[in-house]
Amino acid sequence: MMDKCIACGFVGTHSGPVHAYMSFSPACWARYGEILAREFEDRAYFEAHRLLVDACCGQHSIGPDRRARQSLHIHMAALMLHFEDRASKPEIVAFLSNAARIGEFAPLEVPPASPLVSMDAIHAASNAREHGQAVAEYARRVHEAWAPHHPVFRALIERVRGR
Ligand SMILES: [Zn+2]
Repeated sequence: MMDKCIACGFVGTHSGPVHAYMSFSPACWARYGEILAREFEDRAYFEAHRLLVDACCGQHSIGPDRRARQSLHIHMAALMLHFEDRASKPEIVAFLSNAARIGEFAPLEVPPASPLVSMDAIHAASNAREHGQAVAEYARRVHEAWAPHHPVFRALIERVRGR
């Protein structure tokens, strides 16, 4: 059955499983799995893993479930740490675990630009260099698409830093 991913606009045909609380369509979830498999098979691809997970999980965590709201806030804040604060991967990983303890995350309206940002170029990459560039571009576009809520993510970063 043909379906369109409400989070990123990907149109595909797949009847497999979906994530428990993130808003992947079946075809998008399967394609994300293929991209992740490449990263786990090849260390050079894996370089982009942190950024891919933050951008993709952030973009697809748009449902009402409490876990989805938490995922949206902390992964979007992680993108902000990467692009605006130039934080290192260990700093971002530490932030994610500290931010998860905060416990309450408000629902946010999906900005109109977000469903237009796709992983097509990542899936089409034919080597690790292209993969890394495509992930960086995708993540930057996700970060920019969610600009209307940047003050919320900045406040979360400050709150975690102040603890
Ligand atoms: Zn999607």
